[in-house]
Order: sequence, then structure tokens, then C-alpha cells
Amino acid sequence: MAGQSYEEAIAELKKLISEKADLGGVAAAKIKQLTAELSAADSKPIKPDERIRTGFTHFKKEKFEKNPDLFGKLATGQSPKFLVFACSDSRVCPSHVLDFQPGEAFVVRNIANMIPPYDQTKYSGTGAAIEYAVLHLKVENIVVIGHSCCGGIKGLMSIPDDGTTSSEFIENWVQICNPAKSKVKADTKSLSFSEQCTNCEKEAVNVSLANLLSYPFVRDGVVKKTLVLKGAHYDFVNGTFDLWDLDLKMSPL
Ligand SMILES: [Zn+2]
Repeated sequence: MAGQSYEEAIAELKKLISEKADLGGVAAAKIKQLTAELSAADSKPIKPDERIRTGFTHFKKEKFEKNPDLFGKLATGQSPKFLVFACSDSRVCPSHVLDFQPGEAFVVRNIANMIPPYDQTKYSGTGAAIEYAVLHLKVENIVVIGHSCCGGIKGLMSIPDDGTTSSEFIENWVQICNPAKSKVKADTKSLSFSEQCTNCEKEAVNVSLANLLSYPFVRDGVVKKTLVLKGAHYDFVNGTFDLWDLDLKMSPL
């Protein structure tokens, strides 16, 4: 039977049952057992070390060794054109969604792809990444990408009006985009909670774009036109990607 396709095997089984109808019950029981076995095999816990090694071996064989020019060049330095902010969500990796190759995008990922306003006493990880990308790598574009079904945005929208929080870090972090939440709650009262969350996913991107302008080196780049700021929203339910420019009317320099 080796090499026989699934369709052929099923056709053979159907033929047999049509000839010997009394085997139907036995076949049904065996198929049920097989389905249970296959679904158990599918949900077997992964071995993390093995998964990591297999992943790297695949990358090395298919990408690293097949592109010696690219990786040789990258060994001497990087000059990405994009600084990208994306959510930590496992479904929205910009290298996959936008096909960024090694060397193309300097990426910051955090809960709900948020950019806090300039503040040297907190959020310095974000500030350091922006400073490095803009002043040292001289990226030409900053893209902030929100996404559908964002748990961080849902968390923000779920914080009660009295501000009660129950998490150690998450709710404090997502409140960076409180202005987006307020705007959405005020503008879209008639929408369902889920629709409001979708609106907030996009509005929070605009708040982050405005916050970017609080970094003097970003503002300078925008004024001198060496730097372009863009917002985006990736919808992985419908498979769509919206892209828009920073609205300077919304955030006057
Ligand atoms: Zn998210």
C-alpha cells in the first residue's frame, strides 16, 4: 500500500463496503479509532530544543547557504530602510507578513505595537531603539503596524472607567494609548465592543505616530523630509493590509 494516496485508499474502502455492506459498522468503528489516534499524534507536545535546531537547520540550508552575497554583505553591517513597530502577537511577524528579508527592517515588537511619548525615565527600551534606528542606522521610514484581534487593545478597552487594574505590567503599558481609547469610546458609542476594539487598533497606531513626534530626532527627520512616518493595520481574519501616512493635521509639529 506504500505510496497509495488518501483518495485511492478511501475509494478502495468504499468499493469494499458497497460489496459487503455488513462491514460498514466495523469500518466506521475503525475510522473513529484512526481519527482519535491521528488527532492525538497531532497534539503531541513539541520538543523545544529539537524544534529550534530543526528551524535553524532549515534556515541555514534554504536561506543562509543559498544567499552568500546577501549574508556576506550583512556580515559587514546593516542599513535597513525601515524601522517597524509590530505587536508581539505570534501571528503578525512583519518578516512573514511583509516578506522583509534579513537586513531590510529594524524591528521593535511589544504588546499592541505601542510607542510611548519621549521619556528618559521610563520606557527607555523603546527610546533607545528609535534613537539607534534614526540617528545611527538612518532609516528612512518608520511604520507602526496594528492588527486584528489584538489582545493588548482589547485589554486597554476593557479597563474600567475607574481605572482599576489587576495586572503587574500589561494594563499600565497599554494605557500609553489611552487617548485612542477615549476617542473611540466617544466617537463610536453605537458600535459593538468588538467593532470598537477594531477602531481602537487603528486609532492607537495614530496615537503612536503622534508620540513619535515627541522624539526630537524623529521630528527633525520629518521636518527635513529624511524620515517618513506611516501607520498600518494588518487584518489576519480577512487577509488585508491597510497603509496610511501620518496625518500632520492631527498632530501639528
Ligand atoms: Zn496585538
